[in-house]
Amino acid sequence: MIHKNFKSIEKTVFGRGSFKQLAEIIAPKRGLNQKYFVYIIDQYFKGKELENSLQEQAEDLIYFIDVDPHEPSTEQIDTLRDEILSTKGLPAGVIGIGGGSIMDIAKALSLMLCNEGKSEQYQGLNLIKNPGVYHVGVPTISGTGAECSMTAVLTGPVKKLGLKCEWTIFDQVILDSELTATVPVDKWFYTGMDTFIHCIESRDGILNNAYSMAYGEQSLKLCRDIYLGDQAGQNPENDDKLMVASLMGGLSLTYSEVGVCHALSYGLGKILGEKHCYANCLAFQHLSDFYPEGVAEFKTMLSKHQITLPQNLSAHWSDETITAMAQVAYNLPHMWNHALGSDWQEKMTIERIEGLFRRM
Ligand code: NAD
Ligand code: ZN
Repeated sequence: MIHKNFKSIEKTVFGRGSFKQLAEIIAPKRGLNQKYFVYIIDQYFKGKELENSLQEQAEDLIYFIDVDPHEPSTEQIDTLRDEILSTKGLPAGVIGIGGGSIMDIAKALSLMLCNEGKSEQYQGLNLIKNPGVYHVGVPTISGTGAECSMTAVLTGPVKKLGLKCEWTIFDQVILDSELTATVPVDKWFYTGMDTFIHCIESRDGILNNAYSMAYGEQSLKLCRDIYLGDQAGQNPENDDKLMVASLMGGLSLTYSEVGVCHALSYGLGKILGEKHCYANCLAFQHLSDFYPEGVAEFKTMLSKHQITLPQNLSAHWSDETITAMAQVAYNLPHMWNHALGSDWQEKMTIERIEGLFRRM
């Protein structure tokens, strides 16, 4: 057995209002390369207070990106990289301010600024050749764990797979939960549930261990406070807690693995274009034979926050669509291995996975 040996985020600041320290934090790096910063910001913040508090310099480049039409793509990263290098050369660093999509764009861009060719050729583990530029992550919605993970998930022409290596990890993360106050309740729920599902899947499988469990249990406790406790709902204290839960849930799965729900979610994402966190929720509600306790709690959370998920979706899916999704899910052996054991191929077949999609 090979034990995982991972790099962590280099520096982390936590606290309400800590975003105001951004300019001061990046100041020592300003002299690097062509001495300017690139800001990648969720379009939602265009014209909002955050835009006025950036304290950017005249030479900096600011991009507001709409993440709703599609999840980050390899082509999008390559175009952005080419445009930046041809206008101003290599920046001192990249700052991503937004959710998982924006943070993945910032991570991938940082790497691709220093690696030639198309990003699709680097989708996978340790394929990147050179370290990227200095990069900072500022989450504005909590749950995916993208702030701490060593992957930047991209949809390419062939696969939906991350640029995964040590250099993907942020040099600096700013955890300021004031930035998450404006998240609408449905997105707050779906993205937060990504954390909850990370913890359940990390725990309920053969790769769990004392290290992953310590993070996972604490993250689960926070999720229960936030979604089920006496003060459940969106409030400053819970926003703080969810930001920490997201990070810890991410660390838990990094040292263990995700499972059945994420495998199915990848199928929904790749074939139907469903967003990661929402797709997880669509799948997880039907997985009580794999995660009985987790699914029961999830359903209580759904009703407490009056979230309704669509049912009978599969009635509108063709057999080809279902098979295609099942194939995507089946091709994630590390997840099945963790969830079902090393003899998983005896327990799970493409046909059985198709059956799981037909429940939706
Ligand atoms: P997101 O970045 O896709 O944003 C979701 C929505 O929330 C968008 O409409 C966005 O505009 C809005 N939003 C964000 N912050 C807001 C705020 N403060 N106020 C109001 N609206 C706000 O959301 P996500 O769920 O965090 O990320 C999903 C993406 O993350 C997917 O692309 C998925 O592939 C990726 N992901 C990456 C990892 C990883 O480890 N790298 C893990 C899981 C998921
Ligand atoms: Zn996830």
